Amino acid sequence: MAVWLAEIGTSTGLQANVHGQVLDGQGEVLAGLYVCGNDMASIMQGTYPGPGTTLGPALVFGYRIAMHAAGRPVPID
Ligand SMILES: Cc1cc2nc3c(=O)[nH]c(=O)nc-3n(C[C@H](O)[C@H](O)[C@H](O)COP(=O)(O)OP(=O)(O)OC[C@H]3O[C@@H](n4cnc5c(N)ncnc54)[C@H](O)[C@@H]3O)c2cc1C
Repeated sequence: MAVWLAEIGTSTGLQANVHGQVLDGQGEVLAGLYVCGNDMASIMQGTYPGPGTTLGPALVFGYRIAMHAAGRPVPID
């Protein structure tokens, strides 16, 4: 059986706000640019405490980004 090495997930990436909008070095929104999944800086801040750490945020932010891009942003609370 062939065994291939692969990445399970990354913990750092582009900084984003609660809507998945990418932020520049000054914390300002880069209009029209969104990020989620492994390309987004992990809310776990560089750690991988357990299963779901990557897929959970990817699903949540995928939804939040779609809603924001459609002009229906989802509030935090
Ligand atoms: C074996 C394994 C087990 C895992 N188990 C868990 C778990 O239990 N829980 C958990 O939370 N996470 C788990 N993960 C991690 C999780 O699967 C990943 O972190 C997650 O899928 C990353 O999603 P993503 O959308 O960022 O990237 P991906 O799912 O990698 O999607 C990237 C997509 O971009 C495409 N692509 C790449 N380059 C290009 C290009 N140039 N042009 C167009 N398309 C391109 C790829 O084909 C791919 O479809 C596991 C990962 C592995 C490998």
